[in-house]
Amino acid sequence: GLADRLQNTLQKIRGKGKVTEADVKEMMREVRLALLEADVNFRVVKDFIKRVTERSVGQEVLKSLTPGQQVVKVVHDELTTLLGGEQSKIAVNNRPPTVIMMVGLQGAGKTTTTGKLANHLRKKHNRKPLLVAADIYRPAAIKQLETVGGQLSLPVFSLGDQVSPVEIAKQAIAKAKEEHHDYVIIDTAGRLHIDEELMDELQKVKEISNPSEIFLVVDAMTGQDAVNVAESFNGQLGLTGVVLTKLDGDTRGGAALSIKAVTDLPIKFVGMGEKMDALEPFHPDRMSSRILGMGDVLTLIEKAQTNVDEEKAKELQKKMRDMSFTFDDFLDQMGQVKNLGPLDELLSMMPGANKMKGLKNVSIDDKQIGHVEAIIKSMTKLEREQPEIINASRRRRIAKGSGRTVQEVNRLIKQFDEMKKMMKQMSGMMKGKKKGGMKF
Ligand code: GDP
Ligand code: MG
Repeated sequence: GLADRLQNTLQKIRGKGKVTEADVKEMMREVRLALLEADVNFRVVKDFIKRVTERSVGQEVLKSLTPGQQVVKVVHDELTTLLGGEQSKIAVNNRPPTVIMMVGLQGAGKTTTTGKLANHLRKKHNRKPLLVAADIYRPAAIKQLETVGGQLSLPVFSLGDQVSPVEIAKQAIAKAKEEHHDYVIIDTAGRLHIDEELMDELQKVKEISNPSEIFLVVDAMTGQDAVNVAESFNGQLGLTGVVLTKLDGDTRGGAALSIKAVTDLPIKFVGMGEKMDALEPFHPDRMSSRILGMGDVLTLIEKAQTNVDEEKAKELQKKMRDMSFTFDDFLDQMGQVKNLGPLDELLSMMPGANKMKGLKNVSIDDKQIGHVEAIIKSMTKLEREQPEIINASRRRRIAKGSGRTVQEVNRLIKQFDEMKKMMKQMSGMMKGKKKGGMKF
């Protein structure tokens, strides 16, 4: 796939201490082919190659990176830009409810994504969404949304299939106001192809419901078609964002790379499966890292350089190398991490982290940081330095001292172990690159 090809190509240049113009040219030939084969729009590819080539050949010299690594960084930066740069947030109306309209072709995943999005809003943002069944054409469409709502124990508003979608939207919003729902998500009808009748209706629904977001749901597997569909929906309806579904399938990924460049619409979420929790906010830099398969090590370094006290960072890096990382460092690092952003985001930027099965256990909810601090502070100096001595009775004592449960103490120690293992793997990967290379 695209990721494999790009990774192989970048692997070749990554280790180079000197990069010639010919090297860059050769690499760009391969990158270009890989992108085209992934069904990325040819104009987008052309632009991309041009920008990367310019920046790679006349590159500004960053002392901490080898020329090969700098080229990788350029590719990564440009890929991130191509994917939309910053992560794009979901709108909130200051006068509730915030209305979100889901539109798209039949089978794209609107109904499923309506449920997933409601679930996401409830879980991540503690919101109370109302789902609205406004697809009155597809047989059983209302039933499908009701099933989804039932699974999630969320209310579904419907008036059957004899009332117009415009009227349904209107009444749904009135009800949401009455019952204090802060979000209303309208699941609309789709067709196999774009037609005027559909667009007309959607425009009317838009007028009556004044949505803060109109999300186009597109199937990533349809490649270039997804981009065309996005262009025409956007032209007629004025979209605010795109949800790319079925990225879990055997997709070539070209749609993700072209949509933003062609339509200038942000990709807000990606669908990664049929289940209700298979929706992820779209992070351009993470996606780019995922495609390039190197973890976002460069961004990590950049962030570390700007946000973290340099000396401390160096010390930490040395400790990572030497494997002498202790609970004290962990505590210390947590303080730093607070300035960097969510911990799971940070972890996802570490090289190889995406390939590690243990990552789930490592990630820590921000809210838990206070608890973690309490636990570590209840450890003795020796325990912090030599966690292997923390046996069952010590664990009980620590739990008592911190006001947390033994299970929480166990979990933290396990997470610490995972983190150490990860660091070991990282330092293994970075070996032989000490001279003039990244100093991890
Ligand atoms: P709609 O016609 O746009 O409302 O599409 P549906 O929500 O009914 O979805 C069509 C099919 O695609 C269903 O079988 C869904 O389970 C499936 N589907 C939707 N999103 C995803 C996804 O992200 N990944 C996978 N694998 N299947 C999905
Ligand atoms: Mg549907």
